[in-house]
Amino acid sequence: MHPEIILKPGKEESLLRHHPWVFSGAIARMPENLDEGDYVCVKASDGRILGVGHYQIGSITVRILEFGKDSIPEDFFFTRLNNAAELRRTLNLIRPDNDCFRLVHGEGDFLPGLVVDIYGDTAVMQAHSPGMHFERNRIAEALTRLPGIKIRNVYYKSETTLPFKARLDPHNDYLIGGFDGNIATENGLMFNIDWLKGQKTGFFVDQRENRSLLEKFAKDKTVLNMFCYTGGFSVYAMRGGAKSVDSVDSSAKAAALTDANIALNFPQDNRHTTHAVDAFKFLADMPEDKYDLIVLDPPAFAKHRSALKNGLIGYRKLNAKAFEKIKPGGILFTFSCSQVVTREAFRLAVFSAAAKSGRKVRVLHQLTQPADHPFDISHPEGEYLKGLVLSVE
Ligand code: SAH
Repeated sequence: MHPEIILKPGKEESLLRHHPWVFSGAIARMPENLDEGDYVCVKASDGRILGVGHYQIGSITVRILEFGKDSIPEDFFFTRLNNAAELRRTLNLIRPDNDCFRLVHGEGDFLPGLVVDIYGDTAVMQAHSPGMHFERNRIAEALTRLPGIKIRNVYYKSETTLPFKARLDPHNDYLIGGFDGNIATENGLMFNIDWLKGQKTGFFVDQRENRSLLEKFAKDKTVLNMFCYTGGFSVYAMRGGAKSVDSVDSSAKAAALTDANIALNFPQDNRHTTHAVDAFKFLADMPEDKYDLIVLDPPAFAKHRSALKNGLIGYRKLNAKAFEKIKPGGILFTFSCSQVVTREAFRLAVFSAAAKSGRKVRVLHQLTQPADHPFDISHPEGEYLKGLVLSVE
């Protein structure tokens, strides 16, 4: 039997609706000697079993893994991972020309605290909770047994995702296999994925569908890809037949990755230029009416609720520059990946920048995260990526 956490009266409601987080304020009683990552059984004030999950110190005190039970079954991780794989098969993401996708999206795959991205035959795994950290070897082993996905290497990368205070001292390293190449294929395009030194798991898989959409707009266009990181949007724009593509990122490492990915897919093609400069400086310095197609995919401007106001100002200012400079008849792809910025708030920031510019702006597409980044309707916090495709007269 796992240690028990008893909730205050009435605090069981969200769990009965299968929201997987237990907040510290909802707890009436719990044992004093719990260690971070322990399995705990959560009960309502009347003794009803609500579920079993991982305990950790913090405002989210328990992440429920299984509702209505007091322990997880022996094959829990394999079963959940297999369900996740089944969904990716249904989505037709596992193909010879596409071996790059998100296999596990935390709560959205009923595995709170775990993210797994697949790049060819390597899985890159991130634990966001001590509980998942302690299960890392069991999860890695289960990953190699999934039917239909050939995972030979599992790289564990949780040095920056685990709560610092938990003092788990995680090391980024291979749990299974080792480095055997790092080129993955997305919709027939090749990418060098740097999971060792790159951001997050090495690639922003979540923009796949949006990159594909951009490709359809790119023919004969002069394209500007701001905050390019690995050059994902740029590579698609090149295949789409862009007249020229400029990619901008303030990080020299990102600029080098973009150059490498362009060279990998389009050797000897001189349509592309990378600029390792600050985005706001580039936008301020660039001439008006130069670009037909602009992508703005900045890092999260508001990482916490406390930064929301400034974050929204940031989105407004950034988009205002694009509206000021884009060529008449141009197309703007603009995004926010800040989870705390709602779809409405993002629209408002972009629309107010558009209104101020005095230009006629129409919404062509409203974008979101792709289906391999699902969110559970019981856990709306899982929705984070928002985008708009705008036509600017
Ligand atoms: N569009 C990318 C993901 C962007 S991630 C893709 O499809 O993969 C955000 C990127 O913005 C990072 O690479 C980071 O280096 C860059 N960045 C952050 N601040 C910046 C700034 N002020 N100017 C230019 N680039 C910046």
